[in-house]
Amino acid sequence: MSNFQGHCHCGNTQWTANLEKDQQAHILCHCNTCKQLSGATYTLNQIIPIKNLNITKGGDSLGKYTYKGDSGKSVHCYYCKNCTTHVYHAQEALGPDNIVLRTGLLDQGIKEFKPAAEIFCKDRLPWEKEVASSFDVMPPS
Ligand SMILES: [Zn+2]
Ligand SMILES: [Zn+2]
Repeated sequence: MSNFQGHCHCGNTQWTANLEKDQQAHILCHCNTCKQLSGATYTLNQIIPIKNLNITKGGDSLGKYTYKGDSGKSVHCYYCKNCTTHVYHAQEALGPDNIVLRTGLLDQGIKEFKPAAEIFCKDRLPWEKEVASSFDVMPPS
């Protein structure tokens, strides 16, 4: 396990994430919700236990946006109210103990992590090149 630092665009929110070796990589999500929320073609993520995320600054003033995920269950997005950076997402489909962390917001993550897998490739834009093992939706569990 290693500790990684993250912060939002304005700096009001800061956090550290403890990641196992195999979590020190990006899962690229090509779903249409990620496209809309980020304004980009995919997002960089990792599913981690919520206990391994420590919001060291601004944790009590995060905004919350909730929508219904593909599973029909709610997804709660926690973001900095000042600059709108999404710190993490809590998907009810993953249970209460896990969250989706934005690995691209970790200082070291964006520089050093490699792509480990691509999900929701059914929505991948046709000009986007495959860079890791690709799954139409999610890997078989
Ligand atoms: Zn901010
Ligand atoms: Zn997505």
